[in-house]
Amino acid sequence: MSTVKRPIIAIDGPAGSGKSTTARLVAEKLHLMHIDTGAMYRAVALKMLKHGVELTDKEQLQKLLDSTMVTQKESADGLRILLDSVDVTDDIRTPEISLWVGPVSEHPVVREHLVKWQRELGQAGGVVLEGRDIGTVVFPDADLKIFLIADVHVRALRRRKEMLARGIDQPVEEVEDALAARDERDSTREYSPLRKADDAAEVDTTHMTIGDQVDAIVKLALKLGSK
Ligand code: C5P
Repeated sequence: MSTVKRPIIAIDGPAGSGKSTTARLVAEKLHLMHIDTGAMYRAVALKMLKHGVELTDKEQLQKLLDSTMVTQKESADGLRILLDSVDVTDDIRTPEISLWVGPVSEHPVVREHLVKWQRELGQAGGVVLEGRDIGTVVFPDADLKIFLIADVHVRALRRRKEMLARGIDQPVEEVEDALAARDERDSTREYSPLRKADDAAEVDTTHMTIGDQVDAIVKLALKLGSK
């Protein structure tokens, strides 16, 4: 990367399209910081559940957000997510949180707060951010925008495998239905719906290995310097 030394790379796409693994490996190869924005929404959803804060209670919600810190830490087995300094990496990936995070992430108060965090973290560049609205809302001027897609059944099989590794055994049909419902909700919501930015490169990962995906994106990133 010659001229764009500290790029902002945005990777968006539906649930289970391989964003997290791809973003982590792209960041590793290019020596950039990986920021998982979905984990931030999940951590806030977990804290709301724990504290019994309702989405209708705007005042309590704002208070909770103002007193919440979500950070991430690199470790040998991937990114660890800390909620107020406690490791919640596994707690935020349960089917219950996957269901609850939809309505939480639709709330304008939550979105406004988290988009601000994400901009603060990424504005100096040198980052790979993954999410739903990075290329459209958080960093519309990102140096490189990728939109990852994949067949929903393939995504369900991949997600089930990940869940099994964490000891959660959910039938693939249920995983697929939950993914499709989340995509629908994320794509049709009023604020920052999931959509491909006009200038994003679409990468269909249905028949690609993680290695292929990473190589394709790294290649595009390396071209940035020669633009
Ligand atoms: O990426 P992950 O599946 O962990 O994201 C969980 C949820 O958080 C998404 O389904 C979506 O509702 C929300 N999200 C979002 N905007 C982002 C990242 C995630 O609304 N930038």
